[in-house]
Amino acid sequence: MKFKDLCQCYFRLENTQKKLEMVDILAETLAKANEKEIGKISLLTLGKLYPDFVGIELMLAEKMATKALALATGKSEKSVQNLLDETGDLGKAAHKLLENKTQSTLLAFTNQQEIEQYEVQEIWGILDNIAKTTGEGSSDKKIRFLSGLLSKVTSLEARYISRLIAGNLRTGVAAQLLLEALSKAKTGNRENKEFLERAYNRCSDIEYVSTTLFAKGLEAVKQVEVKLFSPIKVMLAQRVSSSEELLERFKGTCALEYKYDGLRVQIHKKNKDVKLFSRSTENITNQFPDVIEFINDSSLDDEFIIEGEIVAFDHDKESILPFQHVSQRKRKHDIDQKIAEVPVRVYLFDVLYSDSKSKLDSPYLERRENLKEIIEESKEIKFSHQTIAENADEIDDFFHQAIKDSCEGIMGKSVGKDSVYQAGARGWNWVKYKAGYDAQLSDSFDLVIMGAEYGKGKRAGKYGAFLLGCYDEIEGVYQTFTKIGTGFSDEDLDFFFKELKPFERDKPKEFQSDIESSIWFNPKIVIEVTGDEITRSQLHTCSRGLMESDLEGLALRFPRFTGKIVDDKAPEQATTNDEIRTIYLNQ
Ligand code: ATP
Repeated sequence: MKFKDLCQCYFRLENTQKKLEMVDILAETLAKANEKEIGKISLLTLGKLYPDFVGIELMLAEKMATKALALATGKSEKSVQNLLDETGDLGKAAHKLLENKTQSTLLAFTNQQEIEQYEVQEIWGILDNIAKTTGEGSSDKKIRFLSGLLSKVTSLEARYISRLIAGNLRTGVAAQLLLEALSKAKTGNRENKEFLERAYNRCSDIEYVSTTLFAKGLEAVKQVEVKLFSPIKVMLAQRVSSSEELLERFKGTCALEYKYDGLRVQIHKKNKDVKLFSRSTENITNQFPDVIEFINDSSLDDEFIIEGEIVAFDHDKESILPFQHVSQRKRKHDIDQKIAEVPVRVYLFDVLYSDSKSKLDSPYLERRENLKEIIEESKEIKFSHQTIAENADEIDDFFHQAIKDSCEGIMGKSVGKDSVYQAGARGWNWVKYKAGYDAQLSDSFDLVIMGAEYGKGKRAGKYGAFLLGCYDEIEGVYQTFTKIGTGFSDEDLDFFFKELKPFERDKPKEFQSDIESSIWFNPKIVIEVTGDEITRSQLHTCSRGLMESDLEGLALRFPRFTGKIVDDKAPEQATTNDEIRTIYLNQ
């Protein structure tokens, strides 16, 4: 497939808001792809070169992209920067600059080079080359590669190449929509998405899933199983707010485990090769060489995939330290120093693969038994504290002991025959029951920073207040839920200012907001917030369309930042509108 044909599809996608229409537009183009190119097309459509767990990103600094554009068009860097400021979007700036260039000046400038008709795979290859160029002088090389490419493509292609460089295609296509379009393209039926989603949840690899579908068909997709070193989308928990509700959910008997407040980790091991993946399937192996050693020392088997929570641990006092400690271990530099400063312990709670077989469909108690067969406890490796409970008193006792032992609360887990591991799902096989009796709302929300206002006075030059939103999994959009302006330390505000760059003047396509924000961001940072109460609101869009009146949404009153930047969650893993509505209905 020619890259320009894919770009025409992106342009059409950009210009519609309707989800079904988007699926159709995308499916129409995907149906023309062959089995060799569909993998790369799928990755590019999500704005990526590789699945997240590979850890190779394209993103270039804005300054470098500006230089490349100036070189490619023969304009001064200043005029490119001006256009960028005006449009606020590298893609639009590139499109405009190349559009303005007449064919003759283009030919003169590019030394009689013709505009090339690039195949999608060729574009992928050039971008991959740029991403992998490292070491001394690499910035200059990247700029040269990119400007060389930009000078040989059409203005529309330049729009999307620049957006790939900026890290967001801005077509509004997320993984769920792509899966639906792939299903429609190849099987003629969007409903078969469920099988693609099942496969995707097992390997987090869109290239593999789409190639399997196009090369071998739907039956082969149905057979896709867990693979070592390809992270499985994590299973998530529903919430309950009392021991009675917890018991009721499990019809009288359930397993309880401590809910540790740390970093979730999925551990893949084959012989001495151990890799660690975060909750959002990122490779975090390099940040925890100590954990790799603990795992290797305690393993009783050569191959497995297990899950647990890494917590900071004070071995002298034999106690778990608060989340803020372990969060310091997420650094990419000075790792040895941090290992010494923040020792950790891993509490294991599940096994997903062992004995060369997926364990996802085994019931919970069997998996738990299996866990103990493949790894043994040590000072740094423990199994999560667990019991089986049959009445509310037992649950309350376990809960209070968990809080005393510095945990966040407890997890209730089904012990029934169907207590399988639901990869990528927030089902009722697991529930969480967290502390927070003193606050009016017993739960916290992980919300995406959607927009901001510039601060005044002491905060001048930084962001002052933030617009926060939840995620709507069905529509693939972010909806506003609250505005927050207090509770941030100077350090937090510096961090936000450094990490969050204004995107463009217009609100991003995947944001549903009636509130006008001075600045809009790419969805990137998730923060934990509590509040007093969830109320109906005509201003906020959270759950709008699911309420009694179509004009109303839900809002969080008196929001408070807990101090936790949830950087192991991707924006699509933020609290969903559905969860918020359930909490609202149970308030
Ligand atoms: P939260 O912010 O409440 O941790 P979450 O959205 O990260 O929620 P949930 O599925 O809602 O994830 O809650 C389960 C989380 O609790 C897991 O992602 C994991 O990180 C953590 N956890 C701690 N102890 C356990 C345990 N024993 N079993 C399962 N998960 C546990």
